Amino acid sequence: MTTNHELFQRAQQLMPGGVNSPVRAFKSVGGEPFFTARADGACLWDVEGKRYIDYVGSWGPMIVGHNHPQVREAVERAVKNGLSYGTPCPAEVTMAETITRLIPSIDMVRMVNSGTEATMSAIRLARGATNRSLIVKFEGCYHGHGDSFLVKAGSGALTFGVPTSPGVPKANADLTLTLAYNDIDAAVRLFDEHGHDIAGLIIEPVAGNMNCIPPKDGYLQALRELCTKHGALLIFDEVMTGFRVALGGAQAYYGVTPDLTTFGKIIGGGMPVGAYGGRRDLMQQIAPAGPIYQAGTLSGNPVAMAAGLAMLELIQAPGFYDQLAARTRLLTDGLQAIADGEGIPFSTNRVGGMFGLFFTAGKVESYAQATAADTAMFNRFFHGMLERGVYLAPSAFEAGFVSSAHSEQDVADTLEAARGAMKAARA
Ligand code: PLP
Repeated sequence: MTTNHELFQRAQQLMPGGVNSPVRAFKSVGGEPFFTARADGACLWDVEGKRYIDYVGSWGPMIVGHNHPQVREAVERAVKNGLSYGTPCPAEVTMAETITRLIPSIDMVRMVNSGTEATMSAIRLARGATNRSLIVKFEGCYHGHGDSFLVKAGSGALTFGVPTSPGVPKANADLTLTLAYNDIDAAVRLFDEHGHDIAGLIIEPVAGNMNCIPPKDGYLQALRELCTKHGALLIFDEVMTGFRVALGGAQAYYGVTPDLTTFGKIIGGGMPVGAYGGRRDLMQQIAPAGPIYQAGTLSGNPVAMAAGLAMLELIQAPGFYDQLAARTRLLTDGLQAIADGEGIPFSTNRVGGMFGLFFTAGKVESYAQATAADTAMFNRFFHGMLERGVYLAPSAFEAGFVSSAHSEQDVADTLEAARGAMKAARA
């Protein structure tokens, strides 16, 4: 039998850090990652046959659980007709119809291959459409690894202590202004000073890459008004929150209409897909309808579209999001009760099917609070859970995800594991 350790030894010789995406390497939590052999429902199985209840869900896409038969069969049907055409295909049209129907702020959409591509394209459009250069983002928010975004970034960049990456030219970084998330006064001040040069403000409407931090009441509305006042585009990066916190994404959940929206993860059903879309007058400026260039050899790939469409079908089932939110609540309330029983400072956040766990007392509403939480204790808790067959994101700065495949029994088993892991984390 090949072991996880053997595979990691080989991988480290051949791939930077042994992985193809940094946080997977377990570097911040310590130890070595496991290698997944298969996934089904709420669970992963590693190459040694150990089973894990999974709260990472491939970092968000697996909202109906792994290997859902309807998604798998849609892919199998699509594969029989060839893998890629390089011409338009019918599934792209159905996908565009589905997105524009589910997300009213989107009149037109362009499919791409990742969330990173979606956000890079959206800010190019914002700059091209406004003829302005500056972009505003939030400290601890992650929008993929485009140069403009690796400035005070979240996710792996934050986890590894390099929120502003070497390799991003200063000239580029200077065009990205950063703000503290959930601080509207700071945003008003920044726009008063630079408003006439700001092309767009991009935000994760629920921050999910510095752990999970929902917006304060009225915060997104205030940003909407600020952007409108100064002629800047409001871009919601819903790569994570899209089809995750509600069927209509965070914009439906909070009732705020952005000018542009980016998607990824769920929209591809587990295949490499992203998308950006928005108002018709803006999207018409994208090539070949307009002059702002953006393209992709594999964009709108028929197999990827089939997977995404099957998943988007499943999440439209009546009551889907109510049940997902209830299951998530069962988990976070249960964890809170266990931590309280142990006298461990602990708090949780959750919106729909995403959640955050913080080893700190009191409600976490800011990047400063999230980064002040006890990461050493999180790391011990993470390993305690892993040993007991529960896989949480291997970083204190990532949101967790519940899927419709997580049963009440899965949550009960998770809480049982947490009883032991919390005790172990305190020791
Ligand atoms: N935007 C957000 C909010 C994300 O969470 C991510 C990835 O985690 C991205 C963009 C980048 O997406 P991808 O990893 O598909 O390039």
